[in-house]
Amino acid sequence: MIRSLMALALLFVPTLVRAEAPADGQRLILVTMDGTRWQDVFRGPDKALVAEPKFTHPDWKETVEKAWGTGPAVMPFVHSLPAQGGVLHGNRDAGQCMRVTNPMWFSYPGYNELLTGRPDPAITTNDKNWNRNVTFLEWLNRRPGFAGKVRMYGTWDVFPYIINDKRSGVPVNGESPGAHPTETRTMRDAQAALRSAADMRVLYVALGDTDEFAHEGDYAQYLASMNRDDDFIAELWRMAQADPAWRGRTTLIVTTDHGRGAKPGAAWTEHGSAAAWKLAPADYTIADPEGFPGSDAIWLAAVGPGVHAAAPGSACLTQSQIAASALSALGEDWKAFDAGAGAPLPFFAGR
Ligand SMILES: [Zn+2]
Repeated sequence: MIRSLMALALLFVPTLVRAEAPADGQRLILVTMDGTRWQDVFRGPDKALVAEPKFTHPDWKETVEKAWGTGPAVMPFVHSLPAQGGVLHGNRDAGQCMRVTNPMWFSYPGYNELLTGRPDPAITTNDKNWNRNVTFLEWLNRRPGFAGKVRMYGTWDVFPYIINDKRSGVPVNGESPGAHPTETRTMRDAQAALRSAADMRVLYVALGDTDEFAHEGDYAQYLASMNRDDDFIAELWRMAQADPAWRGRTTLIVTTDHGRGAKPGAAWTEHGSAAAWKLAPADYTIADPEGFPGSDAIWLAAVGPGVHAAAPGSACLTQSQIAASALSALGEDWKAFDAGAGAPLPFFAGR
């Protein structure tokens, strides 16, 4: 009985091997939208901020209210992902939870956590320090099948340091390394790379206008940036589906490095923990020893063959789980990258 079952099993081995082999190498598109609050993604425009001329110029009030009255109106593509077999997570009004685990709640510590799979409490500034930690992009860039096929485009001139382009060999901003391009330029370059670099397997695009406009206190332009970013992401996804090299084997992940203050009034313009505020109060426009509660809250959207709808459970998901999620979507062993990294998010487990 046992012997015949084994013989039967052996007969099926070649079929099983074929079925489990990833179709010609999985690919990944990761997009981050700096400092984009879950409140605005899910609820849409905050009525109090729209009513305040200091934050929403009266010329924009009607557009904001009529065209972008809800979260799905501000970011229609991202909101369409669950209906396409993807996920959109982080809506605390619906009992969902996702947060950063680094103690700072600002950019460098956030991107480090997102890309390395764990927080580094020693990173306490956004200064241009070469990252001592290895990102999953750097690890992949040394893997067979990925070497030379990992690219990054970003608007912030600290990214070469976070990615440690000198050590990692991951090119930042392609033809114009070291530049501090506008968001439009970054979008155009990333789309050109997707069109022309047929063998690229990992594309990371970091957009920063959302955070810039929020710090300026311009709520209408912050929302306009979210809307433009959503359009850009939709177009990247459309391009990937139109290209036989990318179609059917590409996973898209969209997320953010940190949230923003949740208190009423001007707190939305800032972000950072009480610890961050105490370290460098002069960096903030608002004096508040509590820092900016709520700016540890983040969200994530994803779609593609690496993603499946799953109950997230009751635990709050974390930014430190994104690196392992990305690697799982690529069919890579995230524990070989860093067994101490956050485990893949439930939407990615099982690969
Ligand atoms: Zn910021």
